[in-house]
Order: sequence, then C-alpha cells, then structure tokens
Amino acid sequence: MLKVTGITQGIVIDHITSGNGLKIFNKLKLDKIDAPVVLLMKVNSHILGKKDIIKIQDHVNIDMTILGLIDQNATVNIIKNGEITSKSKVEIPKKIKGLFQCKNPRCITTVDDYAISEFTLVPNGKVQYRCNYCEELTEYKL
Ligand SMILES: [Zn+2]
Repeated sequence: MLKVTGITQGIVIDHITSGNGLKIFNKLKLDKIDAPVVLLMKVNSHILGKKDIIKIQDHVNIDMTILGLIDQNATVNIIKNGEITSKSKVEIPKKIKGLFQCKNPRCITTVDDYAISEFTLVPNGKVQYRCNYCEELTEYKL
C-alpha cells in the first residue's frame, strides 16, 4: 500500500477519473505555482476502481470552470489545520466566457478581436455549448 503524507493546509482534488490527473495538472498550470504539489495516479478507490489525486500544500485559486470541463467526478477539498473544512463537487460549467472559440468562422467573436466569446451549456447530457452570438453548437473537449 502506497502511503503519502497528508497535507495540513491547502487543497486536495480527489476522485479524479484515472488518466485525467495529468491533464488537470497541466491545464490548471500547477507546475507554475509556488507551493509543493503532489500528483498521484492510479490510486485504488472503492468507488472508481482507480483514481487520481492532486494535493496542493497551499490555498491557491482553482479554476472550477476548467476542472468542470475535464472531470465532473472530481471533488475539491479544502484543508485547514489538517482537517477538511469544505468539500465541493465539480460540475459542468453552465456558462463559459472567453475560454474557447466559436467554431463558426463568420461569428462576430471570430471576426472581431474585441468581441469576447460566450457560451451556454446545452442541457443534453453532453458537454456541448451554444454560442450566445450566433447559436452555433460547439462540443468542448479538453
Ligand atoms: Zn458564435
């Protein structure tokens, strides 16, 4: 059994679907933060079989939009004085602003540099977004 020292202050992203840990690490740019970060991969889990875990020994801001686009199984635990003080479930973001481009080449947000793209989640079970300007559907994959 692999034993990893728990952190006393910071953030634990738990229940990451096995294989998504590295993607989350890269997309959240966790290599850039000035704090110890641990990425655990393929840890045994009762619920998921295998899971990935990320531990950050600092209270950094986690981009819940990016996290929600990569893995909706993950949970974010805030640790203070060695105890979990809050647990939140990651959700698919309902609205996205500026993060990705509309795939319609004639869309105002593609043509005009000053127009910031805005998308609204289509409630169809997929991670699909409708452009708020031209109504084009974009399936978003990270
Ligand atoms: Zn558009």
